[in-house]
Amino acid sequence: MASYVQDFSEGGKDQKDLLGGKGANLAEMTRLGLPVPPGFTITTDACRAYMRTGHLPPELRVQVTMAVRRLEDALGRGLGDFHEPLLVSVRSGAKFSMPGMMETVLNVGLNDASVIGLAELAGDERFAWDSYRRLIQMFGRTVLDIDGDRFADTLDEAKAAKGVAQDVDLDAADLRRLVEAYKEIVRAESGREFPQHPREQLDLAIVAVLRSWNTDRARLYRRRERIPDDLGTAVNVVSMVFGNLGPTSGTGVAFTRDPATGHSGDYGDYLANAQGEDVVAGIRNTLSLAEMEQVSPQAYGELRQAMRRLETHYRDLCDVEFTVERGKLWMLQTRVGKRTAPAAFRIATQLVDEHLITMDEALARVSGAQLSQLMFPRFDAGAERTLLTRGMAASPGAAVGAAVFDSATAEARAAGGEDVVLVRRETNPDDLGGMIASVGVLTARGGKTSHAAVVARGMGLTCVVGADELDIDLGARSMKVGGHEVAEGDVIAIDGSTGEVYLGAVPVVASPVSTYLAEGLDAALAQAGPDQETAELVRSVHRVLTHADETRRLRVHANADTAEDARRARSLGAQGIGLCRTEHMFLGERRVLVERVVLADDDAERQAALDALLPLQREDFAALLTEMDGLPTTIRLIDPPLHEFLPDLTELAVKVAVAAERGEPDPHDVKLLAAVRRMHEANPMLGLRGVRLGLVVPGLFALQIRAVCEAAADRIAAGGHPHAEIMVPLVGSVMELHLVRDDALRIMAEVGAGRGVELDLPVGVMIELPRAALTADRIAEIAQFFSFGTNDLTQTTWGFSRDDVEGAFFPEYLANGVLTVSPFETIDTKGVGRLVRIAVEEGRATRPDLSVGVCGEHGGDPESIRFFDAVGLDYVSCSPFRVPVARLEAGRAAI
Ligand code: ADP
Ligand code: MG
Ligand code: MG
Repeated sequence: MASYVQDFSEGGKDQKDLLGGKGANLAEMTRLGLPVPPGFTITTDACRAYMRTGHLPPELRVQVTMAVRRLEDALGRGLGDFHEPLLVSVRSGAKFSMPGMMETVLNVGLNDASVIGLAELAGDERFAWDSYRRLIQMFGRTVLDIDGDRFADTLDEAKAAKGVAQDVDLDAADLRRLVEAYKEIVRAESGREFPQHPREQLDLAIVAVLRSWNTDRARLYRRRERIPDDLGTAVNVVSMVFGNLGPTSGTGVAFTRDPATGHSGDYGDYLANAQGEDVVAGIRNTLSLAEMEQVSPQAYGELRQAMRRLETHYRDLCDVEFTVERGKLWMLQTRVGKRTAPAAFRIATQLVDEHLITMDEALARVSGAQLSQLMFPRFDAGAERTLLTRGMAASPGAAVGAAVFDSATAEARAAGGEDVVLVRRETNPDDLGGMIASVGVLTARGGKTSHAAVVARGMGLTCVVGADELDIDLGARSMKVGGHEVAEGDVIAIDGSTGEVYLGAVPVVASPVSTYLAEGLDAALAQAGPDQETAELVRSVHRVLTHADETRRLRVHANADTAEDARRARSLGAQGIGLCRTEHMFLGERRVLVERVVLADDDAERQAALDALLPLQREDFAALLTEMDGLPTTIRLIDPPLHEFLPDLTELAVKVAVAAERGEPDPHDVKLLAAVRRMHEANPMLGLRGVRLGLVVPGLFALQIRAVCEAAADRIAAGGHPHAEIMVPLVGSVMELHLVRDDALRIMAEVGAGRGVELDLPVGVMIELPRAALTADRIAEIAQFFSFGTNDLTQTTWGFSRDDVEGAFFPEYLANGVLTVSPFETIDTKGVGRLVRIAVEEGRATRPDLSVGVCGEHGGDPESIRFFDAVGLDYVSCSPFRVPVARLEAGRAAI
């Protein structure tokens, strides 16, 4: 019999696949001897079985019965028992935390009979009825799919009728009436009675939690976080403890360090006489942990001890959820906490300094995505600005955009290309789409642990919360704040590092981390000035990145076309140029010369035009090689189809027709039009481009190769150390490369003899067609290096037109799960990656010292870098500003 159930006392933190994060960590805390209410986990196997078959595995029923009996025996209570009822929570919990995305039902086991028993047991009637109404509310919403507003409105009515503002001001009789009203809602909305049988409640709640894995918002969240859809969630059944048992009870969340700054010391929110989500939902103002110490000193002491224990054990920042029941502490959840990008770097090096982790571990705990967040510009402190208000800094960054007051508007305006800042009283899980569409989020209510803050931090989205001076009028689509009225569409600016909110756009300046990356530590520390926090951050980044550089095996090159790009790339740490595109050398005023090459009637005319291009290109290359002195510089011969350099067919046809009509035909235009027509292709990406162009248009590649050779010779004469390499694009057959290389060797010899230097420039290929990858053994007989052009290789392997698919059907493909991420963003390791692997192996079998790199967009993508490291490439090449990210990720890949 397959086992689908495991008690907390049996598991541990390494079982996240099976138990989910929450279950595994509950088990770990139990093992550590921390006060966790007993319970058990229904494994993710059950969820996967449920997703496959649409019903629960039959063994599960039996195993749940056995586990519930163990619980009953341990606690001396019974599910549905009149005198000593056992109540449980039924909680979702997947491998990766998905805050607020899935469902949890509390107080399962209460019914018309056991509510009386609970009241007697606790000696508190109000509490029992409060728990019961919460059950019906959560159960109705989650299990029976009743609109949550129905319950919330009825609760508001009850408070209004009594003339009180807060839930806690309702007494037992009020709550008993509320229970009746809730039951009536259930009857009316679902057509059935609220189920009185505790086991039926439990079974239905389990199914509801399993189903919550596949809600739209959960799927959307997973797609964004790149969490696979087939992991499934576990279900944790936990005996209830009560934070709503009067003033010496309460519930809270806490971090072992400040998740926004990384500063050590505990930090959290506490709410007395409350249950479950009350803290996060922001229904009442929370207390700080220091204030909690005043009301519940003993529980506070236990909490601090537990948190220290957890931080030592996990050797990382942990967050916890806890409840105090009549002065006694209960731990309900822990996990290694999410954190902002600056906090991630600071915490990593702080833990190294505290001798809790090694530098390798520190490196593993930060990511390229976090580093790139730190490179975002900040608001210019010296600029004029109008401060509207100040909230809590929840997730750093500087966001400027049009204020919008609901998610649908945010999504609509963002789709139109506008930057928007989503402004809400508070966010809830349904706002996820709107948050994704926005450049920043601002809320009026909630603390650093509110939904908006948690989700924004996870997404790296700028966020300010709890700006309680905001007076938002959703109906009028405007808000009043600080004496101003801000209408929907008015531009505001929010600073997620300070919590400040400004009217209008505020200019931004380079972040200290990007100053560090471009100009070094001293420049960045000078910029930070007396700001210790920033100085500490810059030092952390420096330490971690230095360690990455010492650790990584992959070299990092940059894609740079001009001397200026090359300089920037070098300052950011590039160790070479992996791809210099030469197309730009045919643009601007040089177009005329390209036209003459195309229109030439004979070889002499064409050669004249090419000769005119030669000195121009030589200077371009010389400047590049000067900048990259001593470092490999891979120059790709012209790649795009020539017609891209000629006028547009339709426009030119109209021009010629109009001129003809007037009886003033321009012979040049007529000739050009004929050429454009001749060169027009139905499918230019698969047409006359790359090496094909070089072999068909005489003299074109020769011009470029000669320009490179002359530039190299000039540099050598000037005492430089040029390392130019010639890369041939779109090769499919070794014969193509043969022809180009023969030409190249001849030109090298000619130029070398003329200048009295020996030129030996490596000639290699860009592998961007499946055929090239599959015949790599042959190609390597001629090619001295390979560089994977993974953009085209992805395009040609999948048969996806890169320029069309993103808008056309990728959204659909991402929604229906055919793709989890665009293969143009992260390398498709199974298909395209397999070709890469084959080419590397077979290429090196022919030529053991073959140098192999990648120059597609993937060269700067963290996950792809991990793959390129694993298949043994020599370097990745990416855009200059991604270079630091690639350095970091290459270091992480190596540990
Ligand atoms: P989420 O994953 O959304 O945080 P949880 O399963 O952690 O959902 O539960 C939601 C809330 O209910 C949390 O505040 C948690 O502390 C509280 N809770 C869950 N189980 C119990 C329990 N057995 N006793 C008391 N409170 C509980
Ligand atoms: Mg929780
Ligand atoms: Mg290409």
